[in-house]
Amino acid sequence: MAVNKAGIMKIEDKVALCSIKHHKDSHIQLDEEACKNCETKICVISCPAHLYTIEPESGKLKVDHTGCLECGTCKIICPKRAVTWKYPEPGFGIYYRYG
Ligand code: SF4
Ligand code: SF4
Repeated sequence: MAVNKAGIMKIEDKVALCSIKHHKDSHIQLDEEACKNCETKICVISCPAHLYTIEPESGKLKVDHTGCLECGTCKIICPKRAVTWKYPEPGFGIYYRYG
């Protein structure tokens, strides 16, 4: 187990211990119009799993639900309330094997 000098694991190492069974349908929906006009795009830097990205050609925001840690940060932090987020269907989603 990789820990720092204080005996604390890095977030990347903790995430690597998780198991995710993802549903084919996304549990995260975005208001595309709101996102298009969003100046901060704060979701991109706030998601701990780096699931929000901006397509280089179109500039369109995308979210990859398959790696979601179910932390809820994107829903809470969005200044335009553009994220509709619900827990994945029963039997799907993240399984924390450590902690
Ligand atoms: S989800 Fe929220 S923070 Fe992210 S681009 Fe859309 S409006 Fe902006
Ligand atoms: S709930 Fe957390 S991990 Fe999932 S997309 Fe939102 S910020 Fe990322």
